[in-house]
Amino acid sequence: MTRQQGYRARSLEIHGWICAKCAREFDESTLHLLTVHHRDGNHNYNPPDGSNWENLCAYCHDDEHSRGILGDYLSGKD
Ligand SMILES: [Zn+2]
Ligand SMILES: [Zn+2]
Repeated sequence: MTRQQGYRARSLEIHGWICAKCAREFDESTLHLLTVHHRDGNHNYNPPDGSNWENLCAYCHDDEHSRGILGDYLSGKD
Protein backbone atom coordinates (compact mmCIF):
# COMPACT_ATOMS: atom_id res chain seq x y z
CA MET A 1 0.00 0.00 0.00
CA THR A 2 1.42 3.38 -0.98
CA ARG A 3 1.41 6.36 1.36
CA GLN A 4 -1.24 8.10 -0.71
CA GLN A 5 -3.65 5.16 -0.48
CA GLY A 6 -2.87 5.02 3.21
CA TYR A 7 -4.04 8.50 4.05
CA ARG A 8 -6.96 8.31 1.62
CA ALA A 9 -8.31 5.21 3.34
CA ARG A 10 -7.77 6.87 6.71
CA SER A 11 -9.57 10.04 5.67
CA LEU A 12 -12.50 8.08 4.25
CA GLU A 13 -12.67 6.20 7.53
CA ILE A 14 -12.64 9.37 9.64
CA HIS A 15 -14.82 11.67 7.55
CA GLY A 16 -17.09 9.14 5.86
CA TRP A 17 -17.94 8.41 2.23
CA ILE A 18 -19.44 11.81 1.61
CA CYS A 19 -18.33 15.03 -0.10
CA ALA A 20 -17.67 17.76 2.48
CA LYS A 21 -18.89 20.44 0.06
CA CYS A 22 -21.92 19.17 -1.86
CA ALA A 23 -22.80 16.35 0.57
CA ARG A 24 -22.97 13.77 -2.21
CA GLU A 25 -22.75 10.27 -0.81
CA PHE A 26 -20.67 7.47 -2.27
CA ASP A 27 -20.67 3.69 -2.37
CA GLU A 28 -18.30 0.99 -3.63
CA SER A 29 -19.13 1.70 -7.27
CA THR A 30 -18.55 5.46 -7.09
CA LEU A 31 -15.91 5.75 -4.38
CA HIS A 32 -13.14 6.41 -6.92
CA LEU A 33 -14.78 9.82 -7.51
CA LEU A 34 -14.28 10.80 -3.88
CA THR A 35 -10.86 12.34 -3.36
CA VAL A 36 -8.93 13.65 -0.39
CA HIS A 37 -8.08 17.35 -0.30
CA HIS A 38 -5.36 18.76 1.95
CA ARG A 39 -6.73 21.84 3.66
CA ASP A 40 -3.36 23.57 3.94
CA GLY A 41 -2.20 22.42 0.50
CA ASN A 42 0.68 20.45 1.98
CA HIS A 43 0.36 16.85 0.84
CA ASN A 44 3.08 15.78 3.22
CA TYR A 45 1.18 16.99 6.27
CA ASN A 46 -1.06 14.08 7.23
CA PRO A 47 -1.95 14.23 10.93
CA PRO A 48 -3.53 10.98 12.13
CA ASP A 49 -6.63 12.77 13.46
CA GLY A 50 -7.54 13.80 9.90
CA SER A 51 -7.57 17.53 10.65
CA ASN A 52 -5.77 18.39 7.41
CA TRP A 53 -8.05 16.28 5.20
CA GLU A 54 -11.31 16.98 3.53
CA ASN A 55 -13.17 14.42 1.42
CA LEU A 56 -14.27 16.11 -1.79
CA CYS A 57 -15.89 14.68 -4.91
CA ALA A 58 -13.87 15.17 -8.10
CA TYR A 59 -15.99 18.19 -9.09
CA CYS A 60 -15.74 20.04 -5.80
CA HIS A 61 -12.06 19.20 -5.56
CA ASP A 62 -11.48 20.67 -9.00
CA ASP A 63 -13.44 23.74 -7.94
CA GLU A 64 -11.44 24.03 -4.73
CA HIS A 65 -8.16 24.27 -6.58
CA SER A 66 -9.29 25.84 -9.85
CA ARG A 67 -5.70 25.78 -10.97
CA GLY A 68 -5.66 22.51 -12.84
CA ILE A 69 -4.14 20.66 -9.92
CA LEU A 70 -6.79 17.97 -10.07
CA GLY A 71 -5.12 16.60 -13.17
CA ASP A 72 -2.07 16.00 -11.04
CA TYR A 73 -4.20 14.53 -8.31
CA LEU A 74 -5.84 12.00 -10.60
CA SER A 75 -2.50 11.01 -12.03
CA GLY A 76 -1.27 10.32 -8.52
CA LYS A 77 0.78 13.39 -7.67
CA ASP A 78 -1.61 15.12 -5.27
ZN1 LIG B 1 -18.86 17.53 -4.02
ZN1 LIG C 1 -6.91 19.27 -2.98
